[in-house]
Amino acid sequence: MSEESHRVRFAGKHVLITGGARGIGLEIASQFAREKAIISLFDTHRQNLAAAAEKIAATGIKVYTYQVDVSNRQQVLEAVERVEATAPIDVLINNAGIGRETPFLEITEKEWKEILDVNLTGMFYVAQAVCRYMYSRKKGVVVNMGSKNGLDGEYGYAHYNASKGGVIMLTKTMALEFAHIGIRVNAVCPGYIQTPMSMEIDPPEFTQQFVDKYIPLNRAGSVEEVAPAFLFLASEESSFMTGQILILDGGQLAGQ
Ligand code: NDP
Repeated sequence: MSEESHRVRFAGKHVLITGGARGIGLEIASQFAREKAIISLFDTHRQNLAAAAEKIAATGIKVYTYQVDVSNRQQVLEAVERVEATAPIDVLINNAGIGRETPFLEITEKEWKEILDVNLTGMFYVAQAVCRYMYSRKKGVVVNMGSKNGLDGEYGYAHYNASKGGVIMLTKTMALEFAHIGIRVNAVCPGYIQTPMSMEIDPPEFTQQFVDKYIPLNRAGSVEEVAPAFLFLASEESSFMTGQILILDGGQLAGQ
């Protein structure tokens, strides 16, 4: 057994992960489960939640699932209350997000709102609902899902990039407002990661061209490589970090 597999940093901690039924969120949940956390998942599709719960429960870990659209404030408030009733939330992983590629002049009001409502406003709804509880306990840690696209533009993603830029400022301001009671808030900004979402947007031949042109490590990242950054920021190993952005992008932002 490797030294890594002995690490158990989250025994008995209750971790809520939004968008946790597939992609990066599911891998984050699986890695927390491996370290003995209690897992609660928010996601949109009942079948994906059931499949995720089955995968995590197979490791002997308690997992609770909630069919919640994070952009619906009422659903969020009710679900967070139910999650808190099972056990106080120690860690919030605000991961749910959607992406579309559309040239700026073709973005409709509906599409603009969809992206901003899930990626930024939905994150605010969940964070505010959970942080009210954390604030009253003076205890908790939040890790938000940003993106390399929140730090640097990309053609065809004005709404997505704007939402992720907003996530970064939301993260920094939450960190400032909660630092005095010891609640830490940080964000992870991945570059190009192979997930159901990215594979739905881009055909494989595009991915290879993109990688060759823009990513110095010359490959897309994997969910297994992104999830440990969330566990690090949720753990005591990052106890002096707050308001920070951790970038995992294969070197894309290092320059041309
Ligand atoms: P996936 O689509 O594979 O997983 C995201 C999950 O979030 C899905 O299960 C999705 O459900 C769910 N979700 C979407 N909208 C909502 C909502 N309104 N309420 C609750 N759950 C919702 O995407 P990724 O794993 O790729 O992305 C996860 C996060 O990582 C996103 O915030 C994304 O922006 C970010 N990210 C991804 C990168 C990548 O290259 N893949 C790079 C940088 C950041 P549904 O099936 O309904 O869509």
